[in-house]
Amino acid sequence: MARRKPYTIVKKENQIRAAHVRGMGDIVFKGFQCLNSACREFIFVRQDELGDDFELVCPSCKLAMRSGDETQFYEYKLIDQRDDPITEEGSFSILHNEYIAEAQEYKYCIICNTIKPFALFDHHRSRKSGRQGECRLCKKIYNSIKNKTRLTDQHREAAQKRRMYLDISVSTKINSEETYKRFGYRCFKCQKNLRKAGAKERPLDHTLPVVYLWPLTTENATLLCREHNSEKSNQWPSDYYSDDELKKLAILTGIPYDTLAGPAHYNPIAIERLKTTEQVDSLLTKYSAYMPEIIKLRNRILERECFDFFAHSKDISPAWIRCANQEYQRVISQQVGASTKPDTGAT
Ligand SMILES: [Zn+2]
Ligand SMILES: [Zn+2]
Ligand SMILES: [Zn+2]
Repeated sequence: MARRKPYTIVKKENQIRAAHVRGMGDIVFKGFQCLNSACREFIFVRQDELGDDFELVCPSCKLAMRSGDETQFYEYKLIDQRDDPITEEGSFSILHNEYIAEAQEYKYCIICNTIKPFALFDHHRSRKSGRQGECRLCKKIYNSIKNKTRLTDQHREAAQKRRMYLDISVSTKINSEETYKRFGYRCFKCQKNLRKAGAKERPLDHTLPVVYLWPLTTENATLLCREHNSEKSNQWPSDYYSDDELKKLAILTGIPYDTLAGPAHYNPIAIERLKTTEQVDSLLTKYSAYMPEIIKLRNRILERECFDFFAHSKDISPAWIRCANQEYQRVISQQVGASTKPDTGAT
C-alpha cells in the first residue's frame, strides 16, 4: 500500500546512556537522609527490596536503620506549670518505620540519567512505575525540537486528521467564551493568566481526548496555555493530571470524577455510530486519503473494545482488511515484547 511519510522523526545520535540507568526506568526508589545527624549521606533504596522487616546501613557512616528501631533527638520532661512536679518524662524519637514510610519516591529519567522525585514525571498508566520513562524537563525539550521541525504540509495533514476525528466524534461548535469564563481565563494546569492572550495562546483542550472519539463540546473543553495544551495532547486526564486536579476538573466540567480518573475508553455513542454500514462506508470514502490513520483507529478500537468497525463496511476491499490485520499483529507483537500487556486475542 502507499504509505504516507510519517511526521518528522527525531533521529538521535551519540545519545549518552549511563550504565547504572539501564533497565531502571520503572524502578521506584525511596530517598531519605541518613538519620545520623553527623552524616550528610542521602540514601536511595529500591522500593521492591524494602520489606516490612528492613535493615538499611548508611554506606557512609554505617549507621543501621532498622524496622522497629528508633533514633532519639532529645529527652523531655513534661511540666505542669500550675504546680511543680514533673508529670511525665520521655524521649523525642523518630521511629525508623515511620521515617522510611514517609520518604518520597524517586526514579531515574532514561534521558538525562538523573534520579528525580516522582512529581517531576508525568503519569503513565500502563507503565509499571505509573510514570513516564523520561522526566518532564526532557519531554518538554524533546517536544520543542519536534514541533519546530514540523513542515507546513505536515501541519496540514495533522489538521486533516484532526478534522476526521472531530467528524467521527460529531463535535459541534462550542462556546469558547463560556469555557474561558468557567476557567477564570487561566490555564487549568499552571494558572497562567490568559485574559489578554490571543486565541492562539489559549487553546481549548479536549478534556476527554478526540482520539477516543469524544466530541469537543463546551462541557468537554479545558482551558490550557499553549505549552500545557501540547504537553497534554491526546492523553487521558488520569494520565496527565494529579488527583487533586482531577477532582477540581470534575467540578469545572461536569464530567464525573470516576470517568476522569478511570482508564481511557472510547466514547460509546461514537462506537455505536460505527456499527452502521452507511456511516462506516461514508467515513471510509470521505477519508480514503488517510487510510493508514483509519487503520490505526480501527486497530486501537479493536484492541481496547474488541470491536471491528471494518466488519460493518460493505464496500471495503479484503486487501485493506488484510493490511489492517497485519498492522494489528505487528503492533501487538511489539507491545508483547515491550511490556506484559495482555493480548486481547482478537485477530
Ligand atoms: Zn550516615
Ligand atoms: Zn530527564
Ligand atoms: Zn499552563
